[in-house]
Amino acid sequence: MTHPSQSTQPNPSTLIRGAAAVMTGRAGAAARAGAVDIRIRDGRVAELAAGLVPQPGETVIDATGCVVYPGWVNTHHHLFQNLLKAVPAGMNADLQDWLASVPYPRLDRFTPEIFRTAVRLGMAELLLSGTTTCADHHYLYHHGHGAETGDVLFDVAQEFGMRLVLCRGGAVQSKADHPGMRATALVPETLDEMLADIERLKSRYHDAGPDALRRVVVAPTTPTFSLPPPLLREVAGFARGMQLRLHSHLSETDNYVRFCAEKYRCTPVQFVADHDWLGPDVWFAHLVTVTPDEIRMLGQTRTGMAHCPVSNARLGSGIAPVRAMADAGVPVSIGVDGVASNESGSMVHEANFAWLVHRALGGAAQTRVEEVIHWGTAGGAQVLGLPGVGTLAPGQSADLAIYDVGGLRFAGFHDIATAPVAAGEPTPVRDVFVRGRHVVEGGAIVGLDIAQLRRDAQAALTTLLP
Ligand SMILES: [Zn+2]
Repeated sequence: MTHPSQSTQPNPSTLIRGAAAVMTGRAGAAARAGAVDIRIRDGRVAELAAGLVPQPGETVIDATGCVVYPGWVNTHHHLFQNLLKAVPAGMNADLQDWLASVPYPRLDRFTPEIFRTAVRLGMAELLLSGTTTCADHHYLYHHGHGAETGDVLFDVAQEFGMRLVLCRGGAVQSKADHPGMRATALVPETLDEMLADIERLKSRYHDAGPDALRRVVVAPTTPTFSLPPPLLREVAGFARGMQLRLHSHLSETDNYVRFCAEKYRCTPVQFVADHDWLGPDVWFAHLVTVTPDEIRMLGQTRTGMAHCPVSNARLGSGIAPVRAMADAGVPVSIGVDGVASNESGSMVHEANFAWLVHRALGGAAQTRVEEVIHWGTAGGAQVLGLPGVGTLAPGQSADLAIYDVGGLRFAGFHDIATAPVAAGEPTPVRDVFVRGRHVVEGGAIVGLDIAQLRRDAQAALTTLLP
């Protein structure tokens, strides 16, 4: 399917020809590209036009029977959880019991080697759903431990060619009283350790460019529980002084609501507003339990949200009122969340579920396929501050997924452009490009020894069981 031309002229460009449809990632009438031929040069979309003719020496990819999407932008994940799927003790638990029985008791077992295996599994799974950007909310940081894991994340991202936004989590308050943490003997890091590591990560990896392959974000694990309130404001000021974005969890369950009401006499969104944690440089995962007033505050400040409907459903937390948020001007994006509470790290699966669940709960006017694609691509790029990705147009980074929709299950489609999201998984990803780099070819991740990764995963599982 990929065949270099016979010409001896070197030509680094690639032409993707003849797709059945191209989605742009934009909203409304601009959701579909009128033309379907895409030329990639120097990592960018050079042309998106009809009837493009191969140039001498150009690599030509025949996309007949395929649809092309912008690479998905996953705005909330915990890659270490890729070795914690379907842990029996957490399968029927709510958020608190799941935290106590699945991730927390195993945090001290994640050596850098086991962590690397989890990250490789996670990035492989994401790429094979067509995801090209991952914001990983990474919180395996404790006193004297964890700094090397940030380097592992960027190292594996480079290996797989994935765009990585490291949301540097962690806490400076003890969680030792949490039932799941008692046995680990882990001690929280200090604020100085946290901030020094963020400075180190920024100087080593952070790129502020519009299609940066590496970003660093300041992301204490929860604003309500990870830091005493005065430090919350200090950390926000620190991030803004370094021109880094802010991210965290918020209002995943009504626990946040009760805690803020009892301790601070306010709602969670009012609490973060009082500590300088709202604005277009901030996004929160979940926001399931929010009031109309909170939605208005989020919209007025253009504070973003990462919608994680599968994880929220899996843990019985509820479903975020995304229709109301989008209508109020809240930038909406989609995240798969850690797969210890999802079991699928697929943005296609997430988008399919997002499309369905809001219609089930609120009626047919709640969501459209095109809008869900927009949230999962351009919406994610907006939330992450990466305007050079998330949409397919000349000049944009060449991040795209080619889905082979030639299978029988797609044969009856009247509107094949919607197939990956409307039909859901399995939707075969044939090729993926990230900034022009061909990272999935013929359905396989370029350079990946799958058998070895499977063996590494099996070996790691023995350390993490039960
Ligand atoms: Zn999360």
